[in-house]
Amino acid sequence: KESRDEKFQRQHMDPNTSTVTSGYCNQMMKRRNMTVGRCKPVNTFIHEPLPDVQAVCFQGNVPCKNGQPNCYQSSSKMRITDCRLKNGSKYPKCDYQTQQLQKSIIVACEGNPYVPVHFDGSM
Ligand code: ADP
Repeated sequence: KESRDEKFQRQHMDPNTSTVTSGYCNQMMKRRNMTVGRCKPVNTFIHEPLPDVQAVCFQGNVPCKNGQPNCYQSSSKMRITDCRLKNGSKYPKCDYQTQQLQKSIIVACEGNPYVPVHFDGSM
């Protein structure tokens, strides 16, 4: 079975892509199995090395959106791509808007080793 950190990597990690084209989200949301059963409405991919993203668990502690205390904000901006389902897109045709950004990321971390398991947002 897929562990929670493997799920984070599947849903959020894409270190080897630096330039993103307009079809990126349509392709990647499908390829990473986020369009199975429903279209996942929003999702962010991170274009930085895995160790740099894992290190965020030891950077600034911030409250999570759900009120839990296990969220951390990256001290540096990271290259990310936000995927957002377009208005009117209906399953199984999941049609996404692709937006490439450089922002500080916020992740929730769990376990031993303490690693990212959820993407909480960016700012
Ligand atoms: P994502 O939120 O990264 O898009 P999922 O919703 O599929 O991905 O998975 C989030 C996982 O992270 C769940 O297993 C959830 O229990 C776990 N988790 C741990 N801490 C938090 C938190 N503070 N907020 C939200 N989810 C959390």
